[in-house]
Amino acid sequence: MTVAFVFILGLFIGSFLNVVILRLRRQESFIKGSSKCLFCQHRLYPKDLIPLFSYLFLKGRCRYCQKRFSHQYPLVEFFTGFSFVLIFQKIVPSADWNLISSLQVLHLLDWWVIVSFLVIIFVYDFKYYLILDRVVWPIIILSFLVNLFLGFSIFNLVFAAVIGGGFFFLQFIVSKGRWIGGGDIRLGLLMGVILGWPHVLTALFISYVLGSAVGVSLLWSKRKDWGDKIPFGTFLTIGTFMTMLWGPALVKWYLSLFY
Ligand SMILES: [Zn+2]
Repeated sequence: MTVAFVFILGLFIGSFLNVVILRLRRQESFIKGSSKCLFCQHRLYPKDLIPLFSYLFLKGRCRYCQKRFSHQYPLVEFFTGFSFVLIFQKIVPSADWNLISSLQVLHLLDWWVIVSFLVIIFVYDFKYYLILDRVVWPIIILSFLVNLFLGFSIFNLVFAAVIGGGFFFLQFIVSKGRWIGGGDIRLGLLMGVILGWPHVLTALFISYVLGSAVGVSLLWSKRKDWGDKIPFGTFLTIGTFMTMLWGPALVKWYLSLFY
């Protein structure tokens, strides 16, 4: 019951994130204005905006002009719902609201907010090859402050942020900005303040393994050429999320391969 509620909450947040991504791109307000079909401009009513279900029910088409909506909408909704459940199960293993402490509530809300920002960063980088400052800075500050409450030392977080940001800053200097954009440096800082030391390294490692695997398969299938840009922020957000959920277990598994 609780899990179903958390999933549905995540679906609605995911639906809101789709709106945020669209309006960030068009530089519109997130709150004001009603939703419209991108093709026919027909106003969309609540019955058209029920996450996932409207999409499935209308077979991915606009009710008014029949044009196809992007797969991004249901995918973001579903992933957000699913990740809300994974986070909830990690932080509140008993899945019982009555046993939850106030620190757990803070942790849970913090991680739900973080994954929402990671979704925005992922989609925006994937679609537009951009990591926006006005998305990254607020969540850097929020994660930093909440993690202090959750028991991280200020030294740990600052050190992890310097390692994460510095890792990309060095590449930025060495390549004179050809490999790495400023957005990656700030994303490195964000990884540091979310994960702390040493798990910022775990996330970087996972991101590079995923990035290389996908990069090689894109070259192999000739969908990309050497020298084509790849939105690396997408891998960093995936690496960060996987480390949040399974960091220690992944490190243990990886080390067990060698001993
Ligand atoms: Zn339409």
